[in-house]
Amino acid sequence: MTSPASGASDYAPIPRSALGPALNDQRYYVGRVERNLYWVTDGVYQSAFLTTRDGVVLFDAPPSIGPNLRRAVDEITAAEGVTNTVTHLVYSHHHADHAGAAALFGGDVVRIGHEDTRRLLLRDDDPARPAPEVTFADRYTLEVGGERVELAWHGPNHTPDNIYIHFPDHDTLMFIDVVNAGWVPIYNVNLSEDVIGYIGAPEIALSYPWTHFVSGHLGRLATREDVAVHQQYIADIEASSREALISIDPVPFYVAAGENFWAGVKAHLDTVTERAATPVIAKYTGVLAAADIEEFTTTTTFQIMQSLRLDHGVGVSVPVQP
Ligand SMILES: [Zn+2]
Repeated sequence: MTSPASGASDYAPIPRSALGPALNDQRYYVGRVERNLYWVTDGVYQSAFLTTRDGVVLFDAPPSIGPNLRRAVDEITAAEGVTNTVTHLVYSHHHADHAGAAALFGGDVVRIGHEDTRRLLLRDDDPARPAPEVTFADRYTLEVGGERVELAWHGPNHTPDNIYIHFPDHDTLMFIDVVNAGWVPIYNVNLSEDVIGYIGAPEIALSYPWTHFVSGHLGRLATREDVAVHQQYIADIEASSREALISIDPVPFYVAAGENFWAGVKAHLDTVTERAATPVIAKYTGVLAAADIEEFTTTTTFQIMQSLRLDHGVGVSVPVQP
């Protein structure tokens, strides 16, 4: 292991509004979202569960929370006087950092997920993440112990299989790894695969009725306002990337690079990225936590700028002949 090169003191203070409730001595927090729906966090990752008369339904099993998921379920079900048996596990998507504690809940659990989650987990062949047996393509209504949860797939975004988990009777939406409550996305649009899908997903999330949002990160639940601030951050990156692509002439970079064409590509795209990201970093420092970790906004800007070029053709055109 290498040592950390730089500490928290190198960065702007984290806005208090980005932080959640204190963790207990075992390093987790479990809280009621609404009625019999609960959420669990270790301060960075989030999971949720429903307690019902017929069993507990768990939504995601992040390995960083790990055995504390069991403790959180036991603590709440004991207080409520209902069974602590986890009967169902819903996967939001196939990623190991949100699903890698799935195997802790034994072989009898009914696992539910999108059909692509099954495909990807069979591909990944990880014993910690057994593939779901119950799958769906577009929609699935899960009914357990008199409770209802609506699962839906609206196209690829963070991953090809990332789903929307709506709790219509708990005024809650769970949608993972697109919006980080109060924080900027990390590298490369939050390590997402489909940039256009990622950009459009928050609007789909907001089209559902909900008050509480389980975003998967970090230490608190999100609000509709959090989603709106995230959308504005991404929209600002899109606008400044478009402006930079149009206004910066690539030709001088290629001329200066001579026969090393890739050096010309690097100089041009790095210049566009820096021009696009700099004002966004300044605007959101102190608004979204960690906005001043420049690599996060610059790599996200690079991805969005590439999507503008390659998907939308911005700054990519046939040269005008003299
Ligand atoms: Zn993920």
